[in-house]
Amino acid sequence: MKPFISSYESNWQETFLKTFKNQNDFVFYLGKTQKFFGDKDQKNPSDLYKFLKNAGCHTVDVYDIDPKKPIASLDKVHAVMEYIPDDFKDKTHVVVGSGSLLDTIKHALYLKYGTEVSLWSIPTATSVTAYSSPFAVLEQNSHKKTYPSLLPSRVIWVEQIIWHAPTLMNLSGLGDALAIITSSYDIWFQKFIGVSTQSLSQDKVYSLIDLIFSIQDLSFPKPLTDLLIQLGLMCGEWGSTSIISGFEHALSHTLDLLSHEYDLFPLQSHGLQVGLATLTLTGLETSLHNVPLKEDKTEKIKAHCKLLKVPYAHAIEIYQYKRNILKNVNLKKFQEEQPFKVSYKKLQKFMVSHNIPITAESLDIPLKEFNWALNYAPFYRDRISFWDGQIIEKL
Ligand SMILES: [Zn+2]
Repeated sequence: MKPFISSYESNWQETFLKTFKNQNDFVFYLGKTQKFFGDKDQKNPSDLYKFLKNAGCHTVDVYDIDPKKPIASLDKVHAVMEYIPDDFKDKTHVVVGSGSLLDTIKHALYLKYGTEVSLWSIPTATSVTAYSSPFAVLEQNSHKKTYPSLLPSRVIWVEQIIWHAPTLMNLSGLGDALAIITSSYDIWFQKFIGVSTQSLSQDKVYSLIDLIFSIQDLSFPKPLTDLLIQLGLMCGEWGSTSIISGFEHALSHTLDLLSHEYDLFPLQSHGLQVGLATLTLTGLETSLHNVPLKEDKTEKIKAHCKLLKVPYAHAIEIYQYKRNILKNVNLKKFQEEQPFKVSYKKLQKFMVSHNIPITAESLDIPLKEFNWALNYAPFYRDRISFWDGQIIEKL
């Protein structure tokens, strides 16, 4: 595997002039909102797009390609592929943007050229783990799915660019990283019940959680960028994103689905939703006492899906599959073997100290809809979770 390089620069124009001297070797992919970079107080913004054009660089303006198609969707990937010439395989492809843009290009290049092409990223926020992982999360028909994609080999953090990220986007990276608290629990649970053979070291997880809790100041984001890079690389080694995408992500994706279907609340930042979902599940864990999935809930699930106006056939299928596996699980034994070490109070205190929302309402999600999402999340995907039984039992 190619070594992964993560480096830091301060001024973007100097960085571009120095790094991309042979402009013909590079192709740049740009987004709409992040074309202008300047001083911290935004007094002297410069147009990156013009700068690259003047330097004779090849640029692809991703937002302008079929603006109706949402970024980070399979449709957008296919639209963008048309704009990548066939003879660009030897060039280094550089994404100047954040999660959605990177996910789109990572998958488009993968489909076009396979894995033998060079991809770099210049993030415009510290918002995702995608900077260092070989996966892309893309939407199709309001459903989010993980796709294999190109592994970036280099990420260049430019202070002047990160300054321009809205604070919420940087917070989003921290919120998304919290997922390791609950997703690791799901991974251990899957091994315990025998649906997976992969094991995850407790020491590794707890060292990551310690690293998260040691982050204090986001105005200097290096500890956060290091954490995001580590998590992305771990996904590559693990072979899937499940290591940082447990039930908290199923809940966040369900919220996205409800926002799309109903338009009842605006689509929220992925990472902030994940942070809130992680806290919610951590709170549920402490009240766990039931043996899961004895009673047949098929009718209740049908009714719940009707309430949400989502089709229920697939949800019932997932339920039957999970019920068969989970009805004989000795939850007590699992909890004795795997004591949960992150307390709800500690997590809540940490989130409050960073202004990460800790209630649905403070994220503009009405409590009623949040509970709908929580009750539907077990049926969003067939990946078995520790929280499935507890939530389905309460339906
Ligand atoms: Zn995520």
